[in-house]
Amino acid sequence: MHELSIAISIVDTAIKQAAMASANRVSEVELDIGIFSGIEYESLEFALGVAAKDTILEETLFRINRVEAVAECTACEHLYTPDGMYSHCPECNKQGIRLIRGCELQIKSLLVEQNE
Ligand SMILES: [Zn+2]
Repeated sequence: MHELSIAISIVDTAIKQAAMASANRVSEVELDIGIFSGIEYESLEFALGVAAKDTILEETLFRINRVEAVAECTACEHLYTPDGMYSHCPECNKQGIRLIRGCELQIKSLLVEQNE
């Protein structure tokens, strides 16, 4: 499962970040996942639970933000919401887009708890 390897790398990154902040718990991880990132949201949620098991992230709340896509027309530079990678520009009807948003796959923020 593709999502599991991504979940493992997210958990790894969060553990490293927590260690750098000398925290022993991560209460929340917020993720930005674009709708065109190729990730299935439900699979990722499930995979995060699996990847976090027996780590300091076991109790962590994972918040997944769905980032809607924004495309720029390569012909007229009009910005619009594409319905797919091959959508047509509503302004000039040319096909050809550059995705500005929608491919995100990143940790947006991390909430850690310091050692007492
Ligand atoms: Zn256009």
